[in-house]
Amino acid sequence: MLSTMQDGQLSLAKLLRHGTKVHAKSEVVTWTGSEARRETYAELGKHAARLANALRGLGVTGDQRVGTFMWNNAEHLAAYLAVPAMGAVLHTLNIRLFPEQLVFVANHAEDHVIIVDGTLVPLLASNLPGMKTVKHVVVANGDASALTAPEGVTVHSYDVLLAGQSDEFDWPEIDERAAAAMCYTSGTTGDPKGVVYSHRSIWLHSMQVCMTDSMRLAQEDLALAIVPMFHAMSWGLPYAAMMVGASLLMPDRFLQPAPIAALLAAEKPTFAAAVPTIWQGLLAHLDANPQDISHVREVVVGGSAAPPSLMHAFEERYDVPILHAWGMTETSPLGSVARPPASATGEERWAYRYTQGRFPASVAARLIGDNGEELPWDNEAVGELEVSGPWIAGAYHGGSDIDPEKFHDGWLRTGDVGKISPDGFLTLTDRAKDVIKSGGEWISSVDLENAVMGHPAVAEAAVVGIPDEKWDERPLVAVVVKEGQQVTAEELREYLSDKVAKWQLPENWTFVEEVPKTSVGKFDKKRLRASYSEGKLD
Ligand code: ADP
Repeated sequence: MLSTMQDGQLSLAKLLRHGTKVHAKSEVVTWTGSEARRETYAELGKHAARLANALRGLGVTGDQRVGTFMWNNAEHLAAYLAVPAMGAVLHTLNIRLFPEQLVFVANHAEDHVIIVDGTLVPLLASNLPGMKTVKHVVVANGDASALTAPEGVTVHSYDVLLAGQSDEFDWPEIDERAAAAMCYTSGTTGDPKGVVYSHRSIWLHSMQVCMTDSMRLAQEDLALAIVPMFHAMSWGLPYAAMMVGASLLMPDRFLQPAPIAALLAAEKPTFAAAVPTIWQGLLAHLDANPQDISHVREVVVGGSAAPPSLMHAFEERYDVPILHAWGMTETSPLGSVARPPASATGEERWAYRYTQGRFPASVAARLIGDNGEELPWDNEAVGELEVSGPWIAGAYHGGSDIDPEKFHDGWLRTGDVGKISPDGFLTLTDRAKDVIKSGGEWISSVDLENAVMGHPAVAEAAVVGIPDEKWDERPLVAVVVKEGQQVTAEELREYLSDKVAKWQLPENWTFVEEVPKTSVGKFDKKRLRASYSEGKLD
């Protein structure tokens, strides 16, 4: 029997209309380094219409791709809305990709137009000649004349292009399953792979972001989106904000601890999201320059494991709870969120909060063992996590022969290894490629890192497996010591002695100025391993 319900399309054109009308007074606030520029969502709607008209004028039709090479700011948000709502596809280019990867993704996505921030023009310019499908470059927040275009490419000033365009656009009806936006994974191995989100997947994901047991984004929030809009869609914050009318605070290019602290003081956001390394840096800054940040009701940390020491420091010293979440570009990215069950108190509550979180109804999960068997959710059996659901990728852009290994009977193989509790909380022990295999047993690099980072003199610690004749692999710990502090390898081993099993105690330590980071700010273990094998670590 069919239902008697209507069948409206969940499109971003509808989301744009809703957010800019119903939440007309909410704002996108962009930091300029010393002050903020503001645009209400009503103004943003007109801004997006002018942009859509301008893009049509440049010949953008159908599902053509419009790339962005931008920081988090109002112009980027306008593109987030205008491009999918006009029926085209937004491609957020990760500004931190290696040049050859950048050229690869622009060609692979067949970007027709690229919108670039003025400060990023030099970075784009050197790669532009290799980007064969790009016909127009639009320079926002900067000087278009600074860019000399290769033959066949026309350069435009964003302001000039949009001036005189109509504030209205006849946003089309769009099939909810059509492509809306795409994002390439940073590709630690092989070429980056394109994940293509649909209007429907973004809509459903946005609802999840706002749910009470999820990130709880609400109309009363001012959300500081530090996680870049070129990394997994800024964890879905821009679209979720339009859905409920939360205001957005955009840090633009000011991502160092001191400017973030200044921005917190000036705008007093209620919510913030970023990877752990950003919070580690901010913590060190705040400890040296104390400031009240208790206006932040919650901070979401994901992208890599949130060290328990970081969670305690923010909660106990700054009255700011850290909410741990897990996800990946392929999962839109929200996969799980660590809100403890109501019954848990005290230490048990913390234990739940350290996990990667609980799966929501729309994300199905299973653990697969070495022999392909499904493992129980007993919080003991460890295997590879597979997930499926309406905002989980089922393939990569370019066809089913792009990395078919990542998919298994309609499930996404995450490459993450861990266990699941009977009540659905995921604990990751590692990425499959980072697990340290020592004498036939597995050592979790993440557990060791968390334990070392609990030491008061340690700012950061990253652990990789290095070859060992006897054991196959042993852990190597790269430690960054806090400014003005000292600690030796012997002292750290001693500190770990009651925290990890004896056979796991690392005998290899190296002290470094900083841990190399990937394009999205995670520990770059590939580079760390390479430095070790090139003899660059002592
Ligand atoms: P990249 O592969 O470039 O890091 P993603 O940003 O999509 O691309 O990263 C997703 C991966 O990040 C996950 O598969 C997982 O390994 C890791 N990750 C994300 N969140 C967490 C978390 N809370 N704890 C541990 N690892 C995490």
